Amino acid sequence: MKYVSTRDKGVSVSAARAISQGISQERGLFVPEGFPQVSMREIGDMADMTYVQRAAFVLGKFLTEFTEEELLALAEKAYGGGKFDDEAVAPLSKIGEREYILELWHGPTCAFKDMALQLLPLLMAASVEKEGLARETVILVATSGDTGKAALEGFQDVPGTRIAVFYPENGVSDVQKRQMMTQEGENVAVCGIKGNFDDAQTAVKNIFTDPGMAARLAGKGMAFSSANSINWGRLAPQIVYYFSAYASLLAEGEIAEDEGVNVAVPTGNFGNILAAYYAKRMGLPIERLICASNRNHVLSDFFETGVYDKNREFFETISPSMDILISSNLERLLYHLHGEDDGEVRRMMGELESAGRYRVSEAAQKALREEFAGGYADDGETKATIRRYFEEYGYLPDTHTAVALSVAKAYREKTGDSTKTIVASTANPHKFADSVLDALGAKNPENALERAKALEALTGVACPPQLLAALEKPCRFGDVVGKEEIGGYVEKLLGV
Ligand SMILES: *Cc1c(COP(=O)(O)O)cnc(C)c1O
Repeated sequence: MKYVSTRDKGVSVSAARAISQGISQERGLFVPEGFPQVSMREIGDMADMTYVQRAAFVLGKFLTEFTEEELLALAEKAYGGGKFDDEAVAPLSKIGEREYILELWHGPTCAFKDMALQLLPLLMAASVEKEGLARETVILVATSGDTGKAALEGFQDVPGTRIAVFYPENGVSDVQKRQMMTQEGENVAVCGIKGNFDDAQTAVKNIFTDPGMAARLAGKGMAFSSANSINWGRLAPQIVYYFSAYASLLAEGEIAEDEGVNVAVPTGNFGNILAAYYAKRMGLPIERLICASNRNHVLSDFFETGVYDKNREFFETISPSMDILISSNLERLLYHLHGEDDGEVRRMMGELESAGRYRVSEAAQKALREEFAGGYADDGETKATIRRYFEEYGYLPDTHTAVALSVAKAYREKTGDSTKTIVASTANPHKFADSVLDALGAKNPENALERAKALEALTGVACPPQLLAALEKPCRFGDVVGKEEIGGYVEKLLGV
């Protein structure tokens, strides 16, 4: 299987190259040249497999230069050995009759980013080796909170790699910030920026594609790559859990063979929901993809109007990992929906860069509407949803998951569509204890450690030990720079 660039499909590379390089030189994203098919029989066979085996099976469809043994070994290293605190890795919780919450946060950093970032560093190292590249890989990450920590944890002390993470100084939760500032490892750096996530992401993309910088790095035996979801190696592992969820529901008799399900995803950079779209194109019986946004609802407006317009006020919300106005992975969807027309993608992305907006073709808008439903929930609705799920079902969702639950409910009420729904749950509620306590109308202590205790006492949901540890450990990284200083910071860090 080859991968082509969304902005120039003449650029065609192997999976190993797509992963080791991260982004194409002309700033396009790598996409598979086709959608490998998985039959209902194969999905049925997955029912008897462990998560590790399911991952190796699905990844094998895309990473064709890797042998089954290699993929099994990598998946075992990523998901086995007690790294996840639930044997199922991504377990489902049934709510009522027709809703299933897919918990993607049982990994080391308690957010769904672990599902991909426990595996990506291993795939990256293996890809660099397959490509015969004797070099040090430098990972630059722009994070809205969860990716940074998950990437640090995944790359910590992985030989041949270094990692620097940039987060918006005022755009992440206390727990998220402490998790990053206390990161251990010899090859890691963490820096706050005065700006929002989009500023960090744009700066990192500019550094990646700066030819002068690349040349200076090469002179020192280094090369950049990306651990953001613009890297195909981030997306592919995310496809796995949609198959896994369906196989589990089949095994438990919750759904019948070929029964269609809806999938609702709390969305920021459009990576997670795009993975569900890929699963659908591969044959998983997904009916509707419900794309849930918070008050920064550039995506739901886009589904409504066919116009993507980032020229709007940016809001900080209680679901900070979704506070994004430029959803990078939408570029991949646009490529597929426009009949793989790389010229059209170049046009739209050019307009996004120059004018901050673009319109999709009528045909693409129609296709969009058939596959996706968009919606958003503001902070008030999100809190009400947390409270309702806790009171009615004894289930405590985090702020991001609650956005998806809220939007899925609104969608059901508006359309009357009662298809069973898998809701992606993207973080442990203790990561956002502050807002969750507020939602429950409880007292909210100043101190983060006391907040964790308060939430435990109130709900009976234990705070994971690694989050408690982050609140107690000393901070190692306190740098904060302006958004125009990120390039200089990287140069100094690497000595180039
Ligand atoms: C990253 C993140 C999201 C958004 O996922 P995308 O793949 O960027 O759309 C949602 N919730 C949480 C908790 C996250 O960390």
